Amino acid sequence: MEQTRIPIFPRSVKGTYRRIKSSIVLLAYSVYFILPWLRWERDTGPDQAVIFDITARRFDIFDLTIYAQDIFWLALFLAFAAFFLFFITGIAGRVFCGYFCFQTLWTDVFMHIEHWVQGERPARMKLAASKWTAEKIFKIGLTHLLWLLVSFLTGLAFTLYWGNAPDLVVDIFTFNAPLAAGITILFLTATTYVMAGIAREQVCTYMCPYARFQSAMFDKDTFIVAYDSIRGESNKGRHKPSKELIKRDKRQQQGYGDCIDCGYCVQVCPTGIDIRNGLQYQCITCALCIDACDTIMDSVGYPKGLIRYSSEHETEGEKTKILKTKNIVYGLILVLIAGVLVWGLSARTEIELNVRQIRQPLYVVLSNGTIQNRYDVKINNKTDKSHTLSLAVKDLPGAELDPGRSRSITVSPGASLTLHVYIKRNPDNVRQSNKDFEFVLTDLKNKQQQWQHDASFYTPRDLIKTATGSDR
Ligand code: SF4
Ligand code: SF4
Repeated sequence: MEQTRIPIFPRSVKGTYRRIKSSIVLLAYSVYFILPWLRWERDTGPDQAVIFDITARRFDIFDLTIYAQDIFWLALFLAFAAFFLFFITGIAGRVFCGYFCFQTLWTDVFMHIEHWVQGERPARMKLAASKWTAEKIFKIGLTHLLWLLVSFLTGLAFTLYWGNAPDLVVDIFTFNAPLAAGITILFLTATTYVMAGIAREQVCTYMCPYARFQSAMFDKDTFIVAYDSIRGESNKGRHKPSKELIKRDKRQQQGYGDCIDCGYCVQVCPTGIDIRNGLQYQCITCALCIDACDTIMDSVGYPKGLIRYSSEHETEGEKTKILKTKNIVYGLILVLIAGVLVWGLSARTEIELNVRQIRQPLYVVLSNGTIQNRYDVKINNKTDKSHTLSLAVKDLPGAELDPGRSRSITVSPGASLTLHVYIKRNPDNVRQSNKDFEFVLTDLKNKQQQWQHDASFYTPRDLIKTATGSDR
């Protein structure tokens, strides 16, 4: 059934979680907008600390260069991120949604703009309900204009990660940038404006799949933002603080709970829900209702924590178990993936050598009686320097490599090259049908630096029978 959207006018709040959230927003915005402008010296390519160069198929993140062929590491990183999300959701609920999701962070900034231009919740509600006047047009217009400006800057900053920022920004403002850059900026301006300014909580409630399946990762030990209904309701439920019912002991004597039904927790909620109704899939665990309720509890002199982070077990008076099989298994998987990632990235060879033997035909007997096998030799240069190399074979007596040893091979930074090479052998030297050997790639500037790859040379058995030479 279609539901009518009820406009939400969140009230501002002060407190520990608000401060944490504001610090994360500030940090995220600073990193996102400043990073493309950070310079970083490297031998080739722009001196930009973080740059994703699509045409060169390479990503530079400070001193780490990742090429398109390193897709395995990217897949492993994504696997790590997915397991980390499962792990953290099982322990701390939707903490990612409340503090780190782009949608939440950008919506928070848009709400601040709205608050700054139109005032606190009552003023915004009054403005929304009022007739269109010059003041209303000005305030609503200015809000949307500032939202559009932040959206445009968001799209612009994103685009600057894909080229040399100082050059690209000039190209964009002089209309000389590639069409893709213009389309990206327009697309991100539109989506940011709609998602963070117009749709807001609707994105979390109806569009985000994570909101729907996150509860499957919860258990009775998961920390969630929860209302202590036993303390808040007692026997007779909530009650407004009348003169007789303002003192806590009086309330308790008469069977009323600590909730004074002020509604502050509902007013600050960015998704417009009442946490007192229990766990709801709309709750993004931002904890602003904790700050709101703690403020009220302080003002009436009751203990804080009527709304708090707690697990179902804790609410039932039992102990919350964090060290349990599920969490330990996720933790171990994370350590394993992180270990492989760190080892893999630190042990990456600068030059990657791959050899594939061509099997159709597996061999050719040439007119002079020699046997020829063919191989595709692929060389990936994973460095930001050009390398001049030579290719040779080892442990294959009487082998002749074509192209030969003298030929130097130059591979540009980040480039990969495939050589079609032939190996010829006189059957007089052959005793084994499949003779294992090695391709050896040598750096001509530093001959100590070599890379090897195993391969096998095939000779048909009927030719071996007549062989008189020797394979070592
Ligand atoms: S109920 Fe509380 S924690 Fe959940 S979204 Fe609303 S304010 Fe945030
Ligand atoms: S802020 Fe606290 S006291 Fe006020 S309605 Fe919410 S739970 Fe009750």
